[in-house]
Amino acid sequence: MNIEKNSVVAIHYKLTDDEGTVVDSSEGQEPLTYLHGSGAIISGLEGALEGKAVGDVFQVTVQPAEGYGEINPEMIQTVPRSAFQGIENLEPGMPLQADDGNGNVHHVIVREVNDQDVVVDVNHPLAGKVLHFDVTVESVRDATSEELAHGHAH
Ligand code: ZN
Repeated sequence: MNIEKNSVVAIHYKLTDDEGTVVDSSEGQEPLTYLHGSGAIISGLEGALEGKAVGDVFQVTVQPAEGYGEINPEMIQTVPRSAFQGIENLEPGMPLQADDGNGNVHHVIVREVNDQDVVVDVNHPLAGKVLHFDVTVESVRDATSEELAHGHAH
C-alpha cells in the first residue's frame, strides 16, 4: 500500500545539514514510526512521504519554512546573569534548560556571556536550517481505530 492520510509509517532516516554534518539519524535504532497526516513530523518530510511505499528510498531537501521554522529574533533574549546563579562555566554554545517559573522547561542555547548579561536563544536548534533527509520506508499499514482516536501511532 502507498502512504496516505492515516497510514502508520515506519522509516529509517538520516538528517544532514547544508555542511553535510549528520544532525540526526535512526541508524542503529528502531525506525521512526508515526501517524501520517497527523503533523507528528515536520511538514516537508511528511509531504515527501505521501504516496511512497515499502522499500522506497529517496532524498528530500526541506526548507526552514517546512522544517523547524525561521529563526525568530524575538526568541533571542538578554537575561541578567543573576538568573543563572549556580551554573558555572557559562559559555557560548552551551545548552541549558530554563524554568520559566510557570513549570515549563525550555531548552535554550547560550549565545553570548558578559559580566552583567547572558544572551540566550530559545529557537529550535534546527530553526533556519535547510535539512537534507535520506529516507527508507520500512513499513506502511492502516492505523487502528485506537491509534486514530489517540491521534498517534502505537
Ligand atoms: Zn495512544
